[in-house]
Amino acid sequence: MAKQVYDHKWRKLSETIRHMTPYCEDCRDEGVITTAEDMRLDVDHIIPIEVDPSLKYDTSNLRVRCIRHHSIKTVRENSHCLDSNLRKPKQWWMSDEWDSDEEQEAPV
Ligand SMILES: [Zn+2]
Repeated sequence: MAKQVYDHKWRKLSETIRHMTPYCEDCRDEGVITTAEDMRLDVDHIIPIEVDPSLKYDTSNLRVRCIRHHSIKTVRENSHCLDSNLRKPKQWWMSDEWDSDEEQEAPV
């Protein structure tokens, strides 16, 4: 079904990034430190690889985000991008803890 975006090379890189930055960078900007102990952390692309695939392994395009911030960003991307190619079929990283309260947040 889904395209094979998260391959072996990516997983290795993402492990390395989370080792170097073991907290959510968005939470840090809000003055909170969220580590993998608190919430699952994902390595996210600042510029989506659907937009520029060449940036997939570019560490300057990577940001560590907790699943909450990852969700917020993806929801924004999907609502800003009506192109169905950019929609993700299933957001596998969403946990049951996630709820849709984030939608009340004003868009940037
Ligand atoms: Zn966060």
